[in-house]
Formats: sequence, structure tokens, C-alpha cells
Amino acid sequence: MKDSYGRNINYLRISVTDLCNLRCKYCMPEEGVYKVQHGDILSIEEIEKIAKAFVHLGVNKIRLTGGEPLVRKGIVNIVEKVGSLDGIKDLAMTTNGILLKKYAGDLKTAGLNRVNISLDTLKAEKYAYITRGDKLKDVLEGIEEAKKVGLTPVKINTVLIGGFNEDEIEDFVRLTEKEEVDVRFIELMPIGEAIDLESEYYVSNQLVLNKVPELIRTEIQDISSPAVYYKLPNGKGKVGIINPISCKFCEYCNRVRLTARGKLKLCLHSNEEIDLKNALIKGEDIEKIIIDAIMKKPESHKLESGEYVKKKMYQIGG
Ligand code: SAM
Ligand code: SF4
Repeated sequence: MKDSYGRNINYLRISVTDLCNLRCKYCMPEEGVYKVQHGDILSIEEIEKIAKAFVHLGVNKIRLTGGEPLVRKGIVNIVEKVGSLDGIKDLAMTTNGILLKKYAGDLKTAGLNRVNISLDTLKAEKYAYITRGDKLKDVLEGIEEAKKVGLTPVKINTVLIGGFNEDEIEDFVRLTEKEEVDVRFIELMPIGEAIDLESEYYVSNQLVLNKVPELIRTEIQDISSPAVYYKLPNGKGKVGIINPISCKFCEYCNRVRLTARGKLKLCLHSNEEIDLKNALIKGEDIEKIIIDAIMKKPESHKLESGEYVKKKMYQIGG
């Protein structure tokens, strides 16, 4: 499905819940998270119907996210339903990994191909501080389980936060040395909870290359991925650098997002939403609505003009 700038939109990120078992400081407030009514979020059947429409229109890659996707009741069932759609080539999940040890095997059997695990520090005390949850051990066990059952390649997503984890860049990079684990560094984005933090804690990802100069840019790059990939000499895994701020990649953007409440977001950094849940309830032609919406996907984000998205990242899915 092509948008009006000729970009091929083949990737849909589906947030399956607003809920989370952590409270990362840059993503979610500690308290006052409004608990949505069950009827407000997409049912499993609605997720399946919307995913089916997208796949029919040419989407072949779907990522389940949240909130924390593994706290959604029926998540294995969702994986099974979405994964069995005719035309899906890649079904992935972004998770904080806490419940992965418990679910990895069932997710793999249900049709999940791989997982990205969010982890900003390898130190238990710092982990408890940034996530407001003392669960690092569970995450590390979850990563091991994911590797064991073949939810691979396992990718670790690390948000770089000034004064917090720059000193661990080399430790994260070393994780790619002996195992086929990819580590991807992501710049802190000014969205929702992080709007006020970003100016103080933003660090350019260039720091990764400065700290580990032996990283070599890999010959093969995936143009549709926001990450530019590097490797340690003889490293088994890759090191990805994702620079949404210092170097935007809108020109190659191939994705749209569906929130847990059924709103279609054409750009992570835009406040515009199209209500697909409501359209489904009214029995409208979802495919036509999607095609019309895709034609309105903005050419690029406007972060540099200070137009920030107020909605928090846990409500969008990252
Ligand atoms: N709970 C799951 C997790 O943490 O992996 C999935 C949802 S979470 C919103 C998805 C990703 O968004 C995580 O990797 C998280 O670190 C990232 N994220 C949240 N807020 C961010 C921000 N302001 N800037 C950059 N990344 C952010
Ligand atoms: Fe939860 Fe993920 Fe947001 Fe952390 S980043 S609060 S784990 S949704």
C-alpha cells in the first residue's frame, strides 16, 4: 500500500494494552494512570479484523506492543490469530521482558517470530530506579528463555539517557560479542512524559560510536529499518543506532500504529488519529478508511518546530 509520497506502508504496530507492570520514568507517570474500561480497548476479535484488513492491503509485518503486551489477557491467543493471517511474513513483539520467561514457549508455538526487549541498564539498582520496579533478574531470565525457544534474533532496545547509562554503552555493546543478540541504542524522544525530560537528558547516539570506535558499519543495511547497523570485529550480534532526533528517517518510513483503543496513528509524532474501533462498531468499510488515511500520512515529523505529542508513549506503543 503506497502513501502519497510513494512510501510502501507494509508495517503495522499494534498496541494491545495501555497497562504496564513497570513505570519507566520517561514513559509513564508513577501514579494517576487512568484505568481504561474493558470496552474501550480493542477486543481480540477487533484486533484480528483490523489486522486482517491491513494484511489484505499489503502489510506483511506486524509488531505487538503496549503498555506491556504480556500483561494483556489472551495475548497468546492474539499472537495465534494475527500470526495465522495469510500474508504475514514477520510477527514480532516489543516487551519489557518481565513475563517472558513464563510466556516465551507459548508465544513461539502460537506463531511469534521474535522479540525486542527494552532494557536501559544492566545494573539492578539503576534498573529499579528508572523503571520504578525491581525486576532486572526476571528480564535477564526472559532474554535467556527467548533465545532458548528461538524467538530470535533477540534485540535489546536501550534508550540512552544522559547522566544515567552512558557509562554502560560499552557493556551493552559487548553483549553482541559472543552471542547473536542485537543491541539497539535509541535516542530519548520528546513525547508525553518525556517532553520535559528530553532537553535535560537527551544524548546523541553519536556517543556510541565515539565510545566504541572499533564498531564497523555493516555492509548490508535494511533501508526500511530506522536503525543503522554496526558490528564489533568478529562480533556475532549487531549494534543498531536509531536516531529519530539527530537524523530523521521519515523519507523511508514504512509504518503506521494502532493504539489499544483502536485509533490509527499515521506518524508517531503527530496528534492526528483515525478511530478504527468506532468505524468497526458502525460497520463501516475499514479497508477504504485505511486506504484514505494512508494517503494522508505526513511527509515528515515536525519535532524541530516544537510540535510535541502529548499522549504518553505507553498509550501509543513506541
Ligand atoms: N512495554 C514494552 C517495552 O517497554 O518494551 C512495549 C511498549 S514501550 C512504550 C516501547 C518502547 O518505547 C520501549 O523500548 C521504550 O523504551 C520506548 N520509549 C518509551 N518512551 C520513550 C521516549 N520518550 N523516547 C524513546 N523511547 C521511548
Ligand atoms: Fe511500561 Fe514499556 Fe513504558 Fe516502561 S517503556 S513504562 S515497560 S510501556
